[in-house]
Amino acid sequence: MQGDFREHIDCLRTVGADAVEVRTEAELDAVDGLIIPGGESTTIARLLIAFDLMEPLRRRIRAGMPTWGTCAGAIILARRVPGLDRPPLGVMDITVDRNAFGRQVDSFEADLDIEGVTGGPMRAVFIRAPVIREAGAGVTVMAALADGRIVACREGNIWATSFHPELTDDARLHGAFVALVQATLGEAVAAPSARPRRSAAAR
Ligand code: GLN
Repeated sequence: MQGDFREHIDCLRTVGADAVEVRTEAELDAVDGLIIPGGESTTIARLLIAFDLMEPLRRRIRAGMPTWGTCAGAIILARRVPGLDRPPLGVMDITVDRNAFGRQVDSFEADLDIEGVTGGPMRAVFIRAPVIREAGAGVTVMAALADGRIVACREGNIWATSFHPELTDDARLHGAFVALVQATLGEAVAAPSARPRRSAAAR
């Protein structure tokens, strides 16, 4: 819809994934996982409504499609977002505070140890970033700042990160996400009744 989708696609291709842009329900139906990029959450929310994607997205995400929201994308996934002028998707049991670190000039970088990322900390870029202020019982924290503020978490197959992993050369988190997509596809193959594949459903 808006934001850093090109950079995410580059990172996904770097780790060997077949990555495409998604703006329509048909394009959504054709993918096995989704990244909602950083950008401007108010704009993304408006465009999702204008393109009739809110309900299709909720359906796919609730059915288990691996979905990763970064920065504005994390805001869109959250159940509670004070001050957002449109309802978010609300698929993740988190409360997210927008612009929690201040204005553009307060953007910063930090080295983060992230669950599932081996080989040392990752450099994380925060740009007018949100913070995950509350995480529900089913949510696992993947990374926090030194002061304890949560900046990455997951719930089922949904990931939310406050920062922009697509703005560095380090694609390890994208690699971990693609591994989640592959593992989820493997489960669907092992239990075909769990989620019919598109080709089967189309026949
Ligand atoms: N501040 C933006 C918002 O509220 C998010 C910024 C970003 O995605 N880098 O949507």
